Amino acid sequence: MKKERPLILISNDDGIEAPGILSLVAAMDGLGDIVVAAPLHEQSAVGHAITMRDPVRARPWPFRGPSGHVTAYAVSGTPADCVKLAMDKLVPRQPDLVVSGINHGPNTAVNVIYSGTVSAATEAAILGIPAIAFSYCKWGSGGDFEASGRMARSVAKRVLEGGLQPGILLNVNIPDLPLADIKGCMITRQARSKWEESFAERMDPFDRPYYWLSGKFVNLDSGENTDLWAVDNGWVSITPIQHDLTAYSALEGLENWKWGDPAGENNT
Ligand code: MN
Repeated sequence: MKKERPLILISNDDGIEAPGILSLVAAMDGLGDIVVAAPLHEQSAVGHAITMRDPVRARPWPFRGPSGHVTAYAVSGTPADCVKLAMDKLVPRQPDLVVSGINHGPNTAVNVIYSGTVSAATEAAILGIPAIAFSYCKWGSGGDFEASGRMARSVAKRVLEGGLQPGILLNVNIPDLPLADIKGCMITRQARSKWEESFAERMDPFDRPYYWLSGKFVNLDSGENTDLWAVDNGWVSITPIQHDLTAYSALEGLENWKWGDPAGENNT
């Protein structure tokens, strides 16, 4: 029996016109049939937001990959919307793999929680499809996605061959280095970190203050097996992540607490 070609669904959060998604389509070229469903406008840092109170529209989009025309849709929603809508209405069959990115900028450490790129892949994992989020760890604008694309292709091929455990997706961060200087792939955990937020305060023309989010990223983790360490040291970081946010380590302790019961004294 002839095996059907794999179907690869591609999304991102930088928008359908971003250079990173063009690189990701090029990186997947030949690995299977491709459908792109990506936000019409940039949706970076929207996390796992979905659109509920407005319609979502999907406009067929002229998209050219290295082998010619690629079926593509520009979606008027978030990255999670793109994957949910594509899975229900846009793909011709169940995808074998969903890839998201290549994001311009790292999605390491706590940034995973804000990332639209990761959320597109997370939504796929929720729906039972192997999924990978790719990020190119270059701050600011510019840069070259060549090495990121090459590494994305090799990671995607490996996942197409081996699959992933249900509910687990891969968060892949690629250092901003030429291919020859990348040491390889390292399996990592998410580093502990935080943003020390500071809002710039300015005055609008009506003399009312407004605020603009800025902030300083702080690494709280000196481990040498983290996503931050890997990327800083020339490795491609591959972190397995999941949407189940249960803190399993806290279950047992909390089970042993005395909790208020409906008729108990704690309820007064
Ligand atoms: Mn982005």
